[in-house]
Amino acid sequence: MNKLHKVYNEFNTETELLNLIEKQDHQISFDTPLRPDAFELDDETKIELITKEFTSIMNILGLDLTDDSLKDTPTRVAKMYVKEIFSGLNPANKPDITLFKNKYSYNQMLVEKNIAVYSNCEHHFVPIVGKAHVAYISNGTVIGLSKLNRLVQYCSQRPQVQERLTVQIANELKEALGTEDVAIVIDANHHCVSSRGVKDTGSSTITAEYCGKFLEAGFKEEFLKHIAQ
Ligand SMILES: [Zn+2]
Repeated sequence: MNKLHKVYNEFNTETELLNLIEKQDHQISFDTPLRPDAFELDDETKIELITKEFTSIMNILGLDLTDDSLKDTPTRVAKMYVKEIFSGLNPANKPDITLFKNKYSYNQMLVEKNIAVYSNCEHHFVPIVGKAHVAYISNGTVIGLSKLNRLVQYCSQRPQVQERLTVQIANELKEALGTEDVAIVIDANHHCVSSRGVKDTGSSTITAEYCGKFLEAGFKEEFLKHIAQ
């Protein structure tokens, strides 16, 4: 029996196998492209190295680093990259999620809307600013509401593209809540579109990921109705 045949036999139907392959592809392609050695250097070393590199960039631009206002900028930028705006690259910074027993047996959808999104575009390293609206249907446990914000923040604190950010948040929610029944919509302004290039300040980009029950028209419509209010 060849290898593929063996794998195939572990699944009852071809559809089941194809579903699994599709699910894996989906998860893999939405991971942030990181090198395997991404976390071999500790944060302090990274800050030291980025400070040096940013000093070079400023010097090349002709800025006078002996100026009082500029002299600490390279360290400030390095700390901000590692400890704040790109801290979500490191899985060690993933927020601890506390789940509670759903003792009220609330089994309708829970929607948290207008969660602030501050991310950075991976093509230009300028901000993506917007709102996320998330929903889930409890499978017996509920999450502390602020943890929904923390998961959005954690995924946002990486160089991102909005499509990937949306799916990454949905995947984190599914994992944390142990359910497929999650939905997310992100509406964001990309500074690479508004402050440079085409300089369109009026447009925003909407992305969405609906999973589990939210793929059904009724649930999806109810969620969209809540966030439109
Ligand atoms: Zn961009």
